[in-house]
Amino acid sequence: MAAEILAQAGQTVTVYEQKPSLGRKFLMAGRGGLNLTHSEEFEKFLPRYGAAEKFMTPLIESFTPQMLRAWADDLGQETFIGTSGRVFPKMFKASPLLRAWLLRLEKLGVQFKLNHHWLGWRENNLIFKYENKEVAVAADAVLLALGGASWPRLGSDGAWTEILQNKKIEIMPLRPANCGFQINWSDIFKNKYAGQPVKSVALLFNGIRVPGEIMITQGGIEGGPVYALSTALRDAIAQYGSAELAVDLRPDMTEEQLTKALQRPRAALSFTNYLRKAISLSSPAIGLLLEQPNRAELGRYSPPQLAALLKSVPLTLTGTSHIERAISTAGGIALSELDNGLMLKKLPGVFAAGEMLDWEAPTGGYLLQGCFATGAAAAHGIINFLN
Ligand SMILES: Cc1cc2nc3c(=O)[nH]c(=O)nc-3n(C[C@H](O)[C@H](O)[C@H](O)COP(=O)(O)OP(=O)(O)OC[C@H]3O[C@@H](n4cnc5c(N)ncnc54)[C@H](O)[C@@H]3O)c2cc1C
Repeated sequence: MAAEILAQAGQTVTVYEQKPSLGRKFLMAGRGGLNLTHSEEFEKFLPRYGAAEKFMTPLIESFTPQMLRAWADDLGQETFIGTSGRVFPKMFKASPLLRAWLLRLEKLGVQFKLNHHWLGWRENNLIFKYENKEVAVAADAVLLALGGASWPRLGSDGAWTEILQNKKIEIMPLRPANCGFQINWSDIFKNKYAGQPVKSVALLFNGIRVPGEIMITQGGIEGGPVYALSTALRDAIAQYGSAELAVDLRPDMTEEQLTKALQRPRAALSFTNYLRKAISLSSPAIGLLLEQPNRAELGRYSPPQLAALLKSVPLTLTGTSHIERAISTAGGIALSELDNGLMLKKLPGVFAAGEMLDWEAPTGGYLLQGCFATGAAAAHGIINFLN
């Protein structure tokens, strides 16, 4: 986005990328349909940036979700608002948008230097490693948009933190965001259910309830509702060592309705078959219930006791999954290091944008919107700087 705005303003722009092709994470986001932004009102939208809301507000107000949609439309990728309010290209893919975008940039004269790994500065030059040689580049202004540290195989590996720390830039530790969590499953449970979804549940943490589908992994859980609670869960684990998440296995039934359904005589049915027949509990959901340390006693629970447990099955989360599997990254360049045009105050002429800044947001299109908006703001910052 910054390259486009700068080239349109008549600047000579070169994009350096360490991978052999551009936009790999953008393409990966396209696998889920490319949730570009969200259609909700600003009163709801802006608080999604949590602690960074104040910082992000003027940037999003200057590059709004409507502007992002118009931009995609202009590139031949009309968008639509899904039932959840999330915005996607009608093609539900990133590749046609990326292709059209790169073509536009080429026409604007933007040059691309692929396989160029940025190593830092020597004197006033940027130094890149290219084909085992070092290449020095002089630039009037530099925009760093090197991403966070999730999915490093797509290019963003967080190696830039050391380069900037050496320049005395404060970097908040990179942490997984929109991530899965670790749970000490029993061998029986993980061997049977890892890779399987538990559908139509609701997660509860700190008074927030998020319905959806969770995925059982070898080492814990992941999925939309988990990501939605991930900031609060991650911070609780950092503070207390673990966090207790509650799972409502039948969010469509009240505790009273469940109690009534569980009053049906069990007769000769096993406990698991009884749960399957009486309240249509799926096999992974039953497995989850039986992960309780007191599993042997559950068969003797009264209907009200069992109903209460089914509405709030406790799971102890012991840590986040590795950042390599997270959707996004929290932490990064401390926002206090940046001026209004996203220039690093300690490095005049060097700007930063995207996920490498210390903001985070849930999934829902807020991440790409934030990246585009910070890119646009940095481009305007560069134009002002050069003038
Ligand atoms: C599986 C997945 C699905 C996602 N889905 C969505 C979604 O639907 N909606 C949404 O809003 N967000 C989504 N995201 C998040 C979104 O893709 C990111 O927030 C966004 O791509 C970050 O953009 P960025 O430009 O800051 O960094 P990146 O897209 O990570 O780009 C940074 C680039 O810098 C390059 N680079 C890094 N270091 C160097 C170096 N030293 N030298 C040269 N080049 C370097 C990297 O190779 C990379 O190409 C998803 C992420 C993942 C992993």
